[in-house]
Amino acid sequence: MSEELDWANIGFGYRKTDYNVRYYYRDGKWGEMEISSSEYIPMHMAATCLHYGQECFEGLKAYRCKDGNIRIFRVEDNAARMQSTCRGILMPELPTEKFKAAVIKAVELNKRFIPPYETGATLYIRPLLIGTGAQVGVHPAQEYLFIVFVTPVGPYFKGGFATTPYVVIRHYDRAAPLGTGCFKVGGNYAASLRANKEAHDKGYSCEMYLDAREKKYIDEAGAANFFGIKNNTFITPKSDSILPSVTNRSLMQLAEDLGMKVERRQVPIEELSTFEEAGACGTAAVISPMERVDDIDEGKTYVFSKDGKPGPVCTKLYHKLLAIQHGEEPDVHGWVTVIEDK
Ligand SMILES: *Cc1c(COP(=O)(O)O)cnc(C)c1O
Repeated sequence: MSEELDWANIGFGYRKTDYNVRYYYRDGKWGEMEISSSEYIPMHMAATCLHYGQECFEGLKAYRCKDGNIRIFRVEDNAARMQSTCRGILMPELPTEKFKAAVIKAVELNKRFIPPYETGATLYIRPLLIGTGAQVGVHPAQEYLFIVFVTPVGPYFKGGFATTPYVVIRHYDRAAPLGTGCFKVGGNYAASLRANKEAHDKGYSCEMYLDAREKKYIDEAGAANFFGIKNNTFITPKSDSILPSVTNRSLMQLAEDLGMKVERRQVPIEELSTFEEAGACGTAAVISPMERVDDIDEGKTYVFSKDGKPGPVCTKLYHKLLAIQHGEEPDVHGWVTVIEDK
C-alpha cells in the first residue's frame, strides 16, 4: 500500500521513510549491506567529515510508472561519479555493484513512499559517503560510512513546466579552477550558500557562476549545469570547475538523437545574447528553462522568454527525457533500471 499524502504539495523537504541502507568501511575494506530504521548516525566527534569536509553525496530519483513498475535513472553513472569524487578527496571507492544494490534495496524497502504515477512527485534518493574515523591532524580517515536514504519530493514545477529568472554573481565563487568543483562534495555547497541567498533575496530562482579565474565564461547555475540553444545546436560549458551532470549528459545525447549539433566548450557570458533558449539542468527539475539572465554588474539583461513559456527545444527535450525515465519511450541507451512491481 502506498502512503496517503497530498503528493502535489509535499514540497522538497525531508520526510521520514521506513529504512535506510548502510555499508561500513573498516580495516581497509567495505563490509556487507546493513539495513537500519534509525535516522541517526552514532559518530566520533573527531570524524573527518565533521572537521575537514571529507564527505560526498549523490542525488537520483525513482519513478512510479504507468506500467506499475518502478524505474531508476542511470544509477551506474551516479556510482561512477561518486567514485570519481572519492578519488578527488581521498576516500575509498565504493564498487558500482554495491552502490547499485544499496540504491535498489532502499527503494524496495520504502516502496510505500514512492509517489503514484501522474502526481508529478517522485522518490528522491540520497547516497551519502562520510569519513567517520577520528583524526585531528589533516589526514584522510581510516573508517567510512556509506548510507542511502530516500524521501518523497513534490513536483518541481507545481504550476506546470515554466521559466524563471537567473542572476550572474561575480563576487562569490562556488569552486576554484583546480579545486573541488567537479566533485559532489558538501564544501562546494557551503561555499555557495551566500550567493544562493543573495539571488533568492533579490527574487531570482538561482545564481549563475562564471569561471573563477577570468570571470569571462559561464560555469554553472547553482546546483545545475547550464546549456544554451541556438541554430539547432545544444551548447554547454566545458570547465574543470563544474560538476558533470548526469542530466546534462543525457540531454546532450537526446539533442544528438533529435538531429541537433552538440558543442561542449567555453561559453563567454556575452554569448547569452545570441541564444534562442537557455536552461539549467539537473535531477531535481530535469530542465529549468531560463526566463532571463540579469547581469547586474554590467547593466545587462538577456531575455529568453517574453511570455514566461519555455521555448520549443527545452520543452521537447524535457518531455523526451521524462518519457524515458517513466518507461514510455524505448530506453535505447540502456539508462533505466526497472524494478518489477506488478
Ligand atoms: C548534482 C549537481 C548537478 C546536477 O547533476 P545531475 O546528475 O544532473 O543531478 C549540477 N551541479 C552541481 C553543482 C551539482 O552538485
